[in-house]
Amino acid sequence: MTTRPEQPTGSAPHSSSGAGRYAPSPSGDLHLGNLRTALLAWLFARAQGREFLVRIEDLDERTRPGAAQRQLDDLASLGLDWDAPPLRQSEHRDRYRAVVDGLADAERSYECYCSRKDILAAPTAPHAPPGAYPGTCRNLPRTERERRRNEIGRPPSIRLRSDTGSFTVTDGLHGAYTGAVDDFVLERFDGTPAYNLVSVVDDAFQGVGQVVRGDDLLPSTPRQAYLATVLGHPVPAYAHVPLVLNDRRERLAKRDGAVTLAELAGLGRSPADALSMLAHSVGLAEPGEPVSPALLLSRFDPARLPREPWVLPDEPWVRAGR
Ligand code: GLU
Repeated sequence: MTTRPEQPTGSAPHSSSGAGRYAPSPSGDLHLGNLRTALLAWLFARAQGREFLVRIEDLDERTRPGAAQRQLDDLASLGLDWDAPPLRQSEHRDRYRAVVDGLADAERSYECYCSRKDILAAPTAPHAPPGAYPGTCRNLPRTERERRRNEIGRPPSIRLRSDTGSFTVTDGLHGAYTGAVDDFVLERFDGTPAYNLVSVVDDAFQGVGQVVRGDDLLPSTPRQAYLATVLGHPVPAYAHVPLVLNDRRERLAKRDGAVTLAELAGLGRSPADALSMLAHSVGLAEPGEPVSPALLLSRFDPARLPREPWVLPDEPWVRAGR
């Protein structure tokens, strides 16, 4: 069922000013893939004379005690720096609440009573991409909303009332990228503000004008850019960088060997060794060459960045950590 017959598309100009940022989730130590993305985000920002900020995305249940500080220490040990104290999302819940409430007051959101099972079972709307929310709760009459609210026995989630079917962003590495924009979740039923919401709200709050992150997040980007325009915020410039893969060409994970700075230290490899390896992987250093972030900055040219994922070499020191 859908109540959204028309599926228009949209786009907006991208910001040319504002800070760059790195926004890790403190679910554990950063691995070489995360560190490589952080290094690239720093290089992209500094190469354009932008400020660089760090944001700790610690709202969800994957957050581990102490992980945020270890992540910051690891970034600093590579020689990366940032221009303001890191923003911790867990300290800003009231701000997200106010945005969600504002969207409700403006009738740009609605309560959703669907379970994941309901959504999978619902017929997909014509023209809607697979997995898009079918709009089941979008236009329920008030009495029906009350009935469902009582029936589900838990709070509803809150969805954006989108008025577009897709949105186009321009990415520094991928070019024009169009992706679906459905009525995505703004607040989960447990009251946690959703990643797509907080990411947009905080990029605006922190004055971020350049988002550099892993290209696994490219599909979320049209939704975020659209939400920025709904909230009246500028759309940042984007660069989605290739991920690091293990020797089976799967996305790098902690179980893939010695992949964090702590594990590398246990094998006698310093943060400087890790920086050198990361620099080589992005084409900015010879193998084993001692480098500093400042030296890498002097060599950095986004146009020459490898476009392919970096497959972590299956070296004995990596295997030793398995
Ligand atoms: N916290 C997200 C992650 O670690 C990244 C979010 C972002 O860069 O927008 O995957």
